[in-house]
Amino acid sequence: MLFRSTLVARPPVVAVLGHVDHGKTSILDRIRASSVASGEAGGITQRIGAYQVERQGQAITFIDTPGHAAFTAMRARGADVTDIAVLVVAADDGVMPQTEEAIQHIRSAGVPIVVALNKVDKEGLNVDRVLQQLAERGVVPESYGGDVPVVSTSAVTGQGIDTLLDTLLLVNEVILPTRANPSRAAVGTVIDSELERGRGPVATVLVQNGTLRIGDNVVVGRVYGKIRALVDDSGKRVKEAGPSKPVQITGLTEVATAGDVLQVMDTERAARALADQRTALERVRTAQPVRRITLADFAAVQGEVRTLTLVLKAEADGSLEALRGQISAIADPNVTIRIVGEGVGAVGEADVNLAAVSGAIVIGFNVRPDERAKAAAEEHGVDVRFYDVVYQATEDIEKSIRGMYEPTFIDVYQGRAEVRRVFQVDGRPAIAGCQVVDGKIARSARCRVLRGGKEVAAGKIGALKRFKDDVREVARGYECGISIDGFAEFAEGDILEAFVVEQQNL
Ligand code: GDP
Repeated sequence: MLFRSTLVARPPVVAVLGHVDHGKTSILDRIRASSVASGEAGGITQRIGAYQVERQGQAITFIDTPGHAAFTAMRARGADVTDIAVLVVAADDGVMPQTEEAIQHIRSAGVPIVVALNKVDKEGLNVDRVLQQLAERGVVPESYGGDVPVVSTSAVTGQGIDTLLDTLLLVNEVILPTRANPSRAAVGTVIDSELERGRGPVATVLVQNGTLRIGDNVVVGRVYGKIRALVDDSGKRVKEAGPSKPVQITGLTEVATAGDVLQVMDTERAARALADQRTALERVRTAQPVRRITLADFAAVQGEVRTLTLVLKAEADGSLEALRGQISAIADPNVTIRIVGEGVGAVGEADVNLAAVSGAIVIGFNVRPDERAKAAAEEHGVDVRFYDVVYQATEDIEKSIRGMYEPTFIDVYQGRAEVRRVFQVDGRPAIAGCQVVDGKIARSARCRVLRGGKEVAAGKIGALKRFKDDVREVARGYECGISIDGFAEFAEGDILEAFVVEQQNL
């Protein structure tokens, strides 16, 4: 077939994930060191965010940033570069919280797992216990009848490292022979980028298809440029980079963002036009509030079978179990509940990213989000909800599932003003001459009229004036005139309390 003949095997791209201190960096270093061609002058290597090694004449590309933070951050931007995930589990420590998180992320990405059972050089290990822990979490080792290869490794002695590479090649061959067409124009993903003195913006790109060459006109997200130089992972200048090859590029007009897709364009003009168009679109997008998937939305669509996807976080194993149990017990003929991730601890950036890529809502039980998680939730428009009573969480979920989800509104206090004089309109005291004594009064706010500590009226502000002028808001210490729609009974000494109504359960 005409098209098939242009496809050739490309090296698999491998990411290394696992709990902190289980040896991810050590394994990556070991693999890298073992592969530095002995003949190469001084074996100078350069860290560019990814590297390629050779084993039995075949190449494997490793993403050099271990851990799932980078992995999910990239996926959250829509870039799925990884073909196989190595899950590093220290044999002495076993499955730990971040091991579980990593398993969830790998699952959600749908890539095959190879387990590196690391630190096997240590004494007194109970390997069976670790394999059992993995099996319990659905990562069933081949020795237990499952399909996950487990390789015993030691990053210290080097034991098992070659076997790990062989296993990766085997998995690639058997499960997913990765293919690409080196003769087409290149498409790749930025995995690292920075502004470097003297060189300008540099970015490490993993070419996914096609071949990238010096002189190519490229667009990378909202940035464009003409490739000035290509440098590979051994620090050598190269003229071109084919599929799965990581290269550092220079020649971009600005710093690109990790996860951005690189595309070769025919002309510089076309590259620039596309970059400009994206910049303009981005401006429009950021000017609009981020679209969220919320429980309330979920209630809005009815009548078809839907899946409510959740990420659960709780402060302890027991409460997580309770929460999961209660949620799984919710039965509805039209809705399936799917839990794509769960764990003990604060809601972190990785949880939010996982929710973003799986269209999930994050439920936190007796936990709070960290700052980065908040920022990520804002950026990706992820609905993160917190509860401290299990039934409130399940009640909300049930309500939304059954389409009965009522939005809850709360009044958010803005400021107070004291009525010093009243002015008549058509013979009635319809305008209050006030002084703002606390906070501020905004034209768009609603107002309560308090007299003797009791509310006598409430309504929208009709007019807000400073002297003769209409104003948008008046700050503490200033005088102003206020009228309230449908109210004309102000009295001296009244307190006006301004508030805005916000939906609490967005
Ligand atoms: P990471 O946080 O997963 O990247 O873990 P590191 O690679 O930084 O390793 C954490 C610690 O474990 C370091 O002190 C390493 O020297 C040690 N370590 C890593 N691999 C092994 C191993 O195979 N055997 C032993 N004994 N120690 C190891």
